[in-house]
Amino acid sequence: MRNADEMLAVAAERADELAAPRLSPRPGRGVAVLACMDTRIDLFPMLGLQRGDAHIIRNAGGLVTDDAIRSLSASQRLLGTEEIVVVMHEGCGLHGASEDEFRETLAADGVLPTWRLGAFDDIEATLRASLARLRSTPELPSRDYIRGFIFDPETGALREVAEVAA
Ligand SMILES: [Zn+2]
Repeated sequence: MRNADEMLAVAAERADELAAPRLSPRPGRGVAVLACMDTRIDLFPMLGLQRGDAHIIRNAGGLVTDDAIRSLSASQRLLGTEEIVVVMHEGCGLHGASEDEFRETLAADGVLPTWRLGAFDDIEATLRASLARLRSTPELPSRDYIRGFIFDPETGALREVAEVAA
């Protein structure tokens, strides 16, 4: 049930292919991707990315949290990215989840976090709000190229959601 030992062994076997001595830490395609942590989303083949191309920031939901903004700000200000792609998906665990019930499970353990789970009911409205928040975030110096996509794990389709509803 514990994976860490096996992971270390696999990495040791593959050190030659994992090494990237000539690869720059600056994303080669100047893009940062913010995506849900869902296991079914394989961003590299989905977006045609190779190692070295992009920053990948993942969290529950692919939501624009304060910490996502921290990472995007570092991506732009320290490592030169100028474009952001947000990827949410159908069947997300946060879609239709209960913010109140989640808080109650935390409260039962005696904790009252300052953050919210980020549960949502309308995925497109949530993505539009995320894009609008990014657009109005001065921590990000580059806000001209911000796009939002929704992936459907059942069909493999990836569709765009415009920032402003048509
Ligand atoms: Zn998700």
